[in-house]
Amino acid sequence: MQTVTIVGAGPAGLVAAKVLLTDGFDVTIFEKHASLSGIWSFEGAYYNLHTHQPGGTIEVSDLYDEYASWEHAHAYLCKYADKFDRTSHIRLRSQVLSIFKSNLHNAAESWSITVEQTAETLSSIETFHFDFVVIVSGLFSSYHMPSVRGQEKFSGSIVHANNSKSHEQLVDQKKISIGFAASNLYDDGVFKPQYALNDELVSFPVQPIFTELKRQNRIRGHVSAIEEIIDSNTVRLNTRKIFSPIDLIICSTDHYLRFPFLSDADAPTMGLPHETSNDFDLYRRLIPVSEPRIAFLGYVSSNGTWMIDEVASHCVSNYFKGVQLLPSREEMQKEILTIRDFVLSRFGTTAPHIRYFCLELIEIYLHYMDLPLRRTNNWWSENFGVYRPNRLKTLHGEMQARDRGVSFPNQFYFSFFHVLQFCFRFYSEL
Ligand SMILES: Cc1cc2nc3c(=O)[nH]c(=O)nc-3n(C[C@H](O)[C@H](O)[C@H](O)COP(=O)(O)OP(=O)(O)OC[C@H]3O[C@@H](n4cnc5c(N)ncnc54)[C@H](O)[C@@H]3O)c2cc1C
Repeated sequence: MQTVTIVGAGPAGLVAAKVLLTDGFDVTIFEKHASLSGIWSFEGAYYNLHTHQPGGTIEVSDLYDEYASWEHAHAYLCKYADKFDRTSHIRLRSQVLSIFKSNLHNAAESWSITVEQTAETLSSIETFHFDFVVIVSGLFSSYHMPSVRGQEKFSGSIVHANNSKSHEQLVDQKKISIGFAASNLYDDGVFKPQYALNDELVSFPVQPIFTELKRQNRIRGHVSAIEEIIDSNTVRLNTRKIFSPIDLIICSTDHYLRFPFLSDADAPTMGLPHETSNDFDLYRRLIPVSEPRIAFLGYVSSNGTWMIDEVASHCVSNYFKGVQLLPSREEMQKEILTIRDFVLSRFGTTAPHIRYFCLELIEIYLHYMDLPLRRTNNWWSENFGVYRPNRLKTLHGEMQARDRGVSFPNQFYFSFFHVLQFCFRFYSEL
């Protein structure tokens, strides 16, 4: 049986594990945290983090909760991992330190994965060998901390939003937040985006409580930046406005993407972001052009991230099984450049975390696997219904049918339109 290691047990790592196990691979997941589910775990989430989307659109198959709390998402993902006997496949507290091959282009050579495993007080370093690697370490694994002039004079705390873990840490504190994204944190305080919120690129969905607190003037917004910390508790903005006393500065100051377990030479060779470039030049945002037996999953930001990851996992599995062959190196590079130019012209960046339209990528992946883009047999649901993950439930069956050369029936949806049709027929026969 061929062996695969997955680096990271966030939602994308879990769905990749499930797909690869179902396809017959021997899978081991290494996760550096003490619990699974990535952002949606105690280590990954900030205090009171909720999903930013309506329920039914962030799920693998059946999570439905309007603005689910991280605890809810965590419980759901644990339940999901139980579908594939998580304890025998996931190694928690296991940080991958390096992923290495002496010749990246050699498909016959196995990958050496060095992992630091920590127990209560002990830690050990061990090297494992695998046929394939899937890297799913998360788009938001590393974050920026700004350096503010005069910060050494400040007697309060300056923390990244990710490190705001409890109500006690936040309550009764006069807070300033740089940036806007961590909207669940503001039970009271001031937030300071540097750009106007009506800017297309920084508009952001917020929890209803945020809007209410803003209406009550308990949260005040300023389009400005912190210029200087003047003394132990006084902050001045570049609009000359002064805030005092301030106890806590929360930095919602974005994340960046790096792969610290790949060497300084290997990351650029594979087309990955590194010190001097944010480009992410993978074929279909999954596969390096000339390094076989390795894939990257989950490096797309969209409202349908989990669904995209599920379909992408099938692509990766197809690629590892050799069912789907890649086009020539030139064709892959041409496509990468075309997409990069488009993204640059449209979004002004080549960084991977621009917002993709979720259906576009899902359809690209389905097309790559020769699977139908139409997912239902009901015109109304197909064209007007929300694209829910249950449209993807039959992917394994469809692929088996595809490989045998037989057709697979579309799922039947009994929608409101069907009810109308049924009633119409029933009454016309009376
Ligand atoms: C604040 C915030 C809010 C969000 N809200 C939403 C939302 O509402 N809806 C939505 O769809 N998405 C949302 N997202 C996007 C979120 O990234 C995805 O929902 C999802 O968590 C991505 O899954 P992932 O597995 O790719 O990455 P992650 O969840 O980040 O998981 C990556 C895992 O890899 C592990 N890891 C990293 N490096 C190593 C290593 N060297 N060795 C071992 N393990 C490693 C990490 O510990 C982590 O567990 C949000 C993200 C953030 C940061």
